[in-house]
Amino acid sequence: MTNRVDILSVPFDAVTLEEAVRKGLTLTQTGGRVVTPNPEIVWKCQTDPETLKAVASADLILADGVGIVRAAQTLKTPLPCRVAGVDWFFAMLGGCAETGKRVFLLGGKPGVAELAAKNAETKYPGLTVCGTHDGYFTDAAPVLETIKNAAPDFLAVCLGAPKQELWMARNAEALSGVLMAGLGGSLDVLAGAKKLAPGFIRGIGLEWLFSAVLQPKRIPRLFVIPKFMRAVKKEAKRCAKAG
Ligand code: UDP
Repeated sequence: MTNRVDILSVPFDAVTLEEAVRKGLTLTQTGGRVVTPNPEIVWKCQTDPETLKAVASADLILADGVGIVRAAQTLKTPLPCRVAGVDWFFAMLGGCAETGKRVFLLGGKPGVAELAAKNAETKYPGLTVCGTHDGYFTDAAPVLETIKNAAPDFLAVCLGAPKQELWMARNAEALSGVLMAGLGGSLDVLAGAKKLAPGFIRGIGLEWLFSAVLQPKRIPRLFVIPKFMRAVKKEAKRCAKAG
């Protein structure tokens, strides 16, 4: 069990990318859940107990975004670094290729997961993508059947947040033994439908600005960040007073 850091009641594992991948590959042997919350999800958790439970009960909780790392610093419980979900996902695909683990890709618009699978098998030679399904289904039962029949070790659940976190928590029992991870728009990136911010922009933690410029419909989501930071500062003051 790694050290955990609490940010507004949401625990985060204090791990580097390398440690997170090691833990992820171990979890492919037993099954479990991985979540990658950003400030928006932590904010959602403040008012939605089901999302909080789905996130906080995961086996590995990664700090996706510089906002979480700054919040941890403000609370004087620093995290070693941020671990972007998409970086962890790509490293896991490499690890699954090396260790012969079977991968299922769930999510995205029709066609995206298939294209992502094709690209993944080219990028990670030896990788077995044992199945794909789009993320726009209404009845979960046949999708669960398809996943079970494909017998994956690792299931990437890319339905957007908090839908993916709730879906994984609700189906944890049905998919026991499978490692599931909620990875947002990662299949769009793998399929080439969505661009990752260039390295230097990611390096200075401004990929959210890059995404907002390319997809202006994301701009309203950014209004949560100042509210999140204000709540973190208030919590830091409360902790300092409590000594
Ligand atoms: N998505 C999906 N089913 C839905 C809603 C969304 O498969 O019912 C997919 C969507 O096509 C996209 C991903 O979920 O590929 C969400 O991407 P986004 O970049 O918004 O992820 P987030 O920022 O929420 O992690």
